[in-house]
Amino acid sequence: MKEWEKFQEEAAKRDHRKIGREQELFFFHELSPGSCFFQPKGAHIYNTLIEFIKSEYRKREFQEVVSPNIYNVKLWQTSGHWAHYAENMFSFDVEKETYALKPMNCPGHCLMFDHRNRSWRELPLRMADFGVLHRNELSGALTGLTRVRRFQQDDAHIFCTTEQIGQEMMSSLDFLRHVYTVFGFQFHLRLSTRPEKYLGELEMWENAEKQLADSLDSFGEPWTLNPGDGAFYGPKIDITISDALKRQHQCATIQLDFQLPIRFNLNFISESGEKKRPVIIHRAIFGSVERMIAILTESFAGKWPFWLSPRQAIVIPVGPQFDEYSEKVKKEIYEAGFMCDVDVDHGDTLNKKIRNAQLAQYNFILVVGDKEKTANTVNVRTRDNNVHGEFSIEETIRRLQKLKISKTNNSEVEF
Ligand SMILES: [Zn+2]
Repeated sequence: MKEWEKFQEEAAKRDHRKIGREQELFFFHELSPGSCFFQPKGAHIYNTLIEFIKSEYRKREFQEVVSPNIYNVKLWQTSGHWAHYAENMFSFDVEKETYALKPMNCPGHCLMFDHRNRSWRELPLRMADFGVLHRNELSGALTGLTRVRRFQQDDAHIFCTTEQIGQEMMSSLDFLRHVYTVFGFQFHLRLSTRPEKYLGELEMWENAEKQLADSLDSFGEPWTLNPGDGAFYGPKIDITISDALKRQHQCATIQLDFQLPIRFNLNFISESGEKKRPVIIHRAIFGSVERMIAILTESFAGKWPFWLSPRQAIVIPVGPQFDEYSEKVKKEIYEAGFMCDVDVDHGDTLNKKIRNAQLAQYNFILVVGDKEKTANTVNVRTRDNNVHGEFSIEETIRRLQKLKISKTNNSEVEF
């Protein structure tokens, strides 16, 4: 019981809605339920997460696209969403036709694949999209960033041949291990196979499931089998992460889809000149960026690692005569690409200012006085009260750059 109370207390302290308010990261407004306002510091986290995935896309040969938000209902009829998902979609009439906001990117990506003839040489074609999605969740069910109406995903669709499934699965697993290792998450994999009611040929299912199981085996992380729990349109791998409090979250999924290519009549020309049907792999690592921010906020308890931190550094002058120098230092560090603030409010003592900066979770606190101004330096300390001492501005920037690139979670020590 005591353990449970302690856990509840710790969970409440870390509640992302509380930290979001205290750190001025984001808020909600009754005039747009379920759609979050990200303030500058929160938008920094949002964009940094997306940048992280984008830099990986470059290495892993994904191509980013930008696609529409509003589609004629005919698209949703083709994809099957209108028959099975309409109550979760925002729809409206324009010039006597019905349109809806997209709840997923896939149907739009099918139109992009089908825009011209495709050759086997183009496969696997990995189409990534950070497009804004809307799902009509009941207003009573909305809770902070974990359930929202408006969100973005690190979404991608891989169009490939059946023979390429195993290889694509390996790369997708490697990708997610890389990202989760940076966040310090443990994860667990589950393979969900053919349900009783399924569409498509049995042989195709069996072949795909074998490739998925083989790739999971050679990936080397433990996995379990979830027989019969796949979607009717294809088997999938569910990935559950556990955060710093050992709470489980399901974020990433790798879902095979044999049906969408049929519904959109997608083809490519094979090496021997025949028309063939591609397979689609839906995959995301964060899932929703919004929900990932909630998980990260609570997992880090608002103590952001330097690379992701919205408060990377703050300059504090020891007295008003150094305000000008501290503004100059702040400008240089900010222009070098860091989130840097300055505290020139002289209502507080120096010690109080340092304390405030530590509580606000500034990773680095740069104190400047007469000595620093004369030498063009700063005195570096951290939010954990580590004192690193005096460094030139250039050397400080150089070290910060190194910490940012390494994405270490221990920059206050490694500086
Ligand atoms: Zn999809």
